[in-house]
Amino acid sequence: MVQRHGVRAFPERLESELSKPDVLVVAKLWPPMMEALHGAFLVHDRIHQTDPAALAAVAPRIRAMAASGESKVPRELIAQLPALEIISVFGVGYDGVDVAAARERGIHVTHTPDVLTDDVADLALGLVLAVARRIPQADQYVRQGHWPEGPAPLARKVSGARLGVVGLGRIGQAIAQRAEAFGMAVAYTARHEKVGCAYPYHPTPAALAAAVDFLVVITPGGAQTRKLIDTEVLTALGPQGFLVNVARGSVVDQAALVEALQAGRIAGAGLDVFEDEPDVPLALRAMDNVVLTPHIGSATWQTRRAMADLAFGNLQAHFAGQPLLTPVPQTA
Ligand code: NAP
Repeated sequence: MVQRHGVRAFPERLESELSKPDVLVVAKLWPPMMEALHGAFLVHDRIHQTDPAALAAVAPRIRAMAASGESKVPRELIAQLPALEIISVFGVGYDGVDVAAARERGIHVTHTPDVLTDDVADLALGLVLAVARRIPQADQYVRQGHWPEGPAPLARKVSGARLGVVGLGRIGQAIAQRAEAFGMAVAYTARHEKVGCAYPYHPTPAALAAAVDFLVVITPGGAQTRKLIDTEVLTALGPQGFLVNVARGSVVDQAALVEALQAGRIAGAGLDVFEDEPDVPLALRAMDNVVLTPHIGSATWQTRRAMADLAFGNLQAHFAGQPLLTPVPQTA
């Protein structure tokens, strides 16, 4: 009877809860990740946005932060948390985290590289195929009953075309491998030419754009790459060229992209990321030569599971005094 009402169990539960470290969650995280966090931490879910007074009350106890790739973790938020030891990002991109501010305080930052590489590369090729072969439009053609009126309009061949990768890192290389399987000629740009890489290197995105039919963007976001793809690059890509962005919205000058599409200065675009997510300009949503996806690069059950294991594993390792699994290079 006592057990059923939980009276005896309560003090024990309270004690075990109090021995857990406090974690501030700064993103709407995947529910299984939240479940894992609740098992090991005292979780404060997004109170920095919803209840600043509550944050102020628990701030001295917060030892960990759980973020997503899209989270904003500015210097001011880090400064509010004097006991913060680790920021675990559920995602490979961490451009929203002020890593310099974390480093100054000896706070570790971790992310989830590699486990999402295949998914993002798959989606990049999916967008190349979708925008060139007009797969969403063809689907609508059938659904809306136009097929009996005649065949759908012809599209652009992908196999054998030229594909340029902006950012030949983990995901960029996986995109290049997939493109090769389609018989595409691959070229790339990055900050540095890769020693021993067989793909032709172009020193700038504009030079690469001028040499390819499909330009796929997969750099990190942040100040270094802001508006890397601008009017000059889009003009170089040309009226037969397609842009695919699976990196971050900030890497492409979105206003310049809309203008280039409207003026027919490029042929089309496949976009998974946007400047001000989840807002997507009406101009883009209205265009027939654009394929839009809502930032789903890593959004499969299998990959989200692996990302959750890694993001949670980094927190576990830290609090067990073990080496971190995947620290970001700047705090490794
Ligand atoms: P990575 O291995 O670090 O590769 C990044 C590449 O970008 C490197 O080749 C790097 O060049 C290049 N780069 C960096 N700054 C550049 C610049 N200013 N100009 C030209 N190239 C530059 O990272 P990754 O694992 O492939 O991930 C890349 C990014 O993909 C992430 O940071 C994230 O923003 C994005 N992403 C998106 C999704 C999605 O859902 N759409 C999912 C996961 C990741 P160097 O090799 O010369 O240094």
